[in-house]
Amino acid sequence: MRRPLIAGNWKMNGSLAANAILLEGLRAGAVAVQCEVAVCVPAPYLSQVQALLAGSGIAWGAQDMSVHESGAYTGEISALMLRDFDCRYVIVGHSERRTFHAETSELVAKKAARALAGGLIPIICVGETLAEREAGQTAQVVEAQLSPVLAEVGGQLDHIVVAYEPVWAIGTGKTATPAMAQEVHELIRANLAKRDADAAAGVRLLYGGSMKPDNAKELLAMPDIDGGLIGGASLKAADFLEIARAA
Ligand code: PEP
Repeated sequence: MRRPLIAGNWKMNGSLAANAILLEGLRAGAVAVQCEVAVCVPAPYLSQVQALLAGSGIAWGAQDMSVHESGAYTGEISALMLRDFDCRYVIVGHSERRTFHAETSELVAKKAARALAGGLIPIICVGETLAEREAGQTAQVVEAQLSPVLAEVGGQLDHIVVAYEPVWAIGTGKTATPAMAQEVHELIRANLAKRDADAAAGVRLLYGGSMKPDNAKELLAMPDIDGGLIGGASLKAADFLEIARAA
């Protein structure tokens, strides 16, 4: 049985004042939610989130981390630093990192391995661009993104989360239909199962891409959609909690 996970990705949004209001709203509303809820926040706010969410049942995490363990890597944040703030999750390979920071699937896989070694659960993002979907390459692209992940962390599938985020649906208001998303989720699980069928059956596969209160229920009803990675709608407590209640 896979417990659904609804994870928020705040991206580069927030302020101490705005976060305090959002976190208070989440804390108050989370008591009525059955699924697991997490927020992945900008690193400078981890201390605030740790203080305001401790004991709430809501988990937290970061949006990226270094592939290195420690040392002369100016600007980087290590897995162990994230653990110092009791992070449970870290997003790796978000399409915005792949696009704007030239992250390759090999690097993303190595980050996932480093996260696991540091005691974090990586939320590993994969997904095709619009051009790739229109060229009929979705399966090929997603499989190519997963291949280094299987090579690096295929023996630890019990401890990873995979998020399918079609790039064309992120922040655009365009959502994959439940059937489109399910098809790719099924393919992802089948790929993971080639490495370890038992563990693959337990891996939580999140859908991300303009998931909102009005489309969450249908998407989350699909058999291989075990939750959501939520961008824009995670910045409003009421919307985020409504999605969580649909899971
Ligand atoms: C995301 O950034 O992971 C995401 C899914 O964003 P949005 O929900 O805004 O499309």
